[in-house]
Amino acid sequence: MSNSVTFLGTGSSAGVPEIGCSCYVCTSEDSRNNRTRSSICIHNGLNNIVIDTSPDFRYQVLKNCVSRIDALFFTHSHADHILGLADIRPFNRMQGGPIEAYANEHTIGSIKQRFNYIFNAPEEYRKYYPQVELKEISGKVRIGGLEIIPVEVFHYKMPVLAFRFGNTAYITDVSLIPDESMELLKDLDLLILDALRKENHIAHFSLDEAVRIAEYIGAKKTLFTHISHALDHEKTEASLPENIRLAYDGMKVSLS
Ligand SMILES: [Zn+2]
Ligand SMILES: [Zn+2]
Ligand SMILES: [Zn+2]
Repeated sequence: MSNSVTFLGTGSSAGVPEIGCSCYVCTSEDSRNNRTRSSICIHNGLNNIVIDTSPDFRYQVLKNCVSRIDALFFTHSHADHILGLADIRPFNRMQGGPIEAYANEHTIGSIKQRFNYIFNAPEEYRKYYPQVELKEISGKVRIGGLEIIPVEVFHYKMPVLAFRFGNTAYITDVSLIPDESMELLKDLDLLILDALRKENHIAHFSLDEAVRIAEYIGAKKTLFTHISHALDHEKTEASLPENIRLAYDGMKVSLS
C-alpha cells in the first residue's frame, strides 16, 4: 500500500475566491486558484490522518473520497483550522466510536471552549454529537505504522504545531521557526510550508521569506500552502526555483 498526502485545502483563512472580491485570481478559470481552507490528509497504508478540520472539511472529504479517519491532528485553534470539527459525525457513525485528536494544550482549551456543547453535553446526549478524544501531544505519536513528531513554531506569538511524518513536514501558519525546531527538520524529502502572499504579514511567511526558509531547510522538494488571493498559481510558480512549487486543492503526492 503506497503512502501519500492529499491537499484537502491550500487557501488562506478567507479562502480563494474571497467573498466580494473580483481580482484576477478570485475570478480566474485556473482551478488551482480555487483554494479552500488549508488541511491535508496523510494516507499511510490503510490509515488516514487528517491535519486540521477547516470550515470546508465536509466538502473536502466528499470531494477527495476520504471514507475513514484514524486520527486528527490540530496545528492551532484559529477558525480556519478547527471549525469543520462538527462534521466528523459521519466518521464516528461509520467507524463506531470516537476519533483521537492530538493538539497542544492551548488548542485543546480553545476547542473545548468553542465546542462547549460537545464537551459539556449530558451523558445520554453525547452519541448525537461529534465524538472526539482530545489528547495533548508532548512527543512522538504512532498511528498505524507512522510516527508523527510535533514541532513547535510560532504564528506571531501563538505557539503552533507543525508535524513531521517520515521525511515530510507540514508547517502552516508560521512566522518563526525556532532553532530547536529547525533541528527536527533535517533531511526532508518534502516540506510543506506556509507562504501567504508577496507582502509581509506579522503572523505568516511572505513568499520571499518562505523561499528563504525553504532553501535553508533544504528539503528535496517544497510545496507552499495557506495561499491567499494575492498569488496567481501559474505566475507565482514561474518565479520560483524548480524544486519549490505551489500546492493546490486535490493535489496528491506520493511519499517515499
Ligand atoms: Zn490559517
Ligand atoms: Zn481576490
Ligand atoms: Zn492561524
